[in-house]
Amino acid sequence: MNYQPTIGLEVHAQLLSKSKLFCAASTRFGEEPNANVHPLCMAMPGTLPKLNAAVVDMAIRTGLALQCTINLESRWDRKHYFYPDLPSGFQVTQNELPICEHGTLSVSTTEGERPIRIRRIHMEEDAGKLMHDPQSAESLVDLNRAGIPLLEIVSAPDIHTAEEAAAYLRSLRDILVYIGVSDGNLEEGSFRSDANVSIAPKGSTTLGTRVEIKNINSFRFVQKAIEYEIARQVSVLENGGKLVQETRLWDAEKGETRSMRSKENAQDYRYFPEPNLPPLRIEASQVEALKKTLPELPKEKYRRYIESLGLPAYDAAVLTAERELAEYFEGCLTHYADAKKLSNWVMGELLRMSKEEEIAFSALRFSKEQFARLLQAVDAGKISLNAAKEVFAHMFRTGEEPERIIEAKGLAQVSDVGAIEAAIAAVLEAHASETEKYRAGKKQVFGFLVGQVMKAMKGKGNPALVNQLLRNRLDN
Ligand code: ADP
Ligand code: MG
Repeated sequence: MNYQPTIGLEVHAQLLSKSKLFCAASTRFGEEPNANVHPLCMAMPGTLPKLNAAVVDMAIRTGLALQCTINLESRWDRKHYFYPDLPSGFQVTQNELPICEHGTLSVSTTEGERPIRIRRIHMEEDAGKLMHDPQSAESLVDLNRAGIPLLEIVSAPDIHTAEEAAAYLRSLRDILVYIGVSDGNLEEGSFRSDANVSIAPKGSTTLGTRVEIKNINSFRFVQKAIEYEIARQVSVLENGGKLVQETRLWDAEKGETRSMRSKENAQDYRYFPEPNLPPLRIEASQVEALKKTLPELPKEKYRRYIESLGLPAYDAAVLTAERELAEYFEGCLTHYADAKKLSNWVMGELLRMSKEEEIAFSALRFSKEQFARLLQAVDAGKISLNAAKEVFAHMFRTGEEPERIIEAKGLAQVSDVGAIEAAIAAVLEAHASETEKYRAGKKQVFGFLVGQVMKAMKGKGNPALVNQLLRNRLDN
């Protein structure tokens, strides 16, 4: 391809605040239409906004997690447009002076880590929702969402492939969820993204005309929509056409973008400072205090798991994908030091069963110590790996102590030398010809003889001991 694509992303993340940005109405999802409304978010005349301080804290924490400068003074502006889901006729946002600027987010791509610059993060209120009832042919307004606090996170045009754009969004979502400011739920619309896409001839120092794509509500669609749009722009230019700055809508069913409005009739939002809210002033000490509340971020955790715990990259990625899982793993690690063995169990049996039984890590019936004791029993040769899986399943369902389960189920391995030697003697006698073959140099027979001894011991012989004693007996 002779063109370099460029992508800039604008993300709207709904914040995990119990009440709205400027009034005390609830933000709960899935309520009856217009159940979560107060006079302010219905734009009743004479109502005054009162800033939700928790939202400001969340914005600052997000800025810090994304290595932004936190502006100790920022401002509120009105952005005007007319639509039935916006009764005041303007959205309160931060236009001129946002709360956070100049951050970066490092994104893993097939070519390694790449820093993507974050231009700005600002707070704003969401609009309501218009619902079209096909039966009555009426349009209904639901203001439950009106006034819900959002963060808009705007990247610089630093992204060059659709894959990188999806990786940026995943990484951003993970961070917001890790630091607890958003649930990052794409289906419920709490993490929405618009993509700006342009192409320019390879080597060009200026960017091409950009197209903004709206309505992309899954990571898979982001990638598809951008790929489609790049191909469309290339084909327009190759066919001697000209690109126009416009907003296009992603149609997931047709798998294409189509024009929604061109920049010619783009709205003039008539931004001006919100007269009912003073500039937002933050103390440097507040920023410092919030810095201390940030957890280790997913990327740092991932790196530490590889570098200090010696885990493979795959394990590190699985274990750090969710904060709860990572914290559970680390909790177990304080009782059981072999990180790789623990990781195998957590990624294998634990994840499988907690998914099957739909149990959260915080609601598990057994303690981390119990889990550790089970793994130690395997290490000490008290039970086989297979038996341990059976014990684990039982412990998972009942919360019983592993030692009791091992005893009740008769799963303890036989490590009694005398008992193993007796079984070996019987097997060698019953399989005299195989024994001779082994001694004549046919070493492959060994596995067969081990199998026979294990069978004679009903699978409970300690395999390491069985191997060792059988070899002693055959080689001497
Ligand atoms: P607006 O003021 O219209 O919102 P911005 O300059 O703030 O425009 O940019 C919005 C988004 O578009 C940002 O994420 C930015 O990185 C991206 N962007 C700007 N110009 C281009 C371009 N030529 N190609 C791709 N993305 C771009
Ligand atoms: Mg913008």
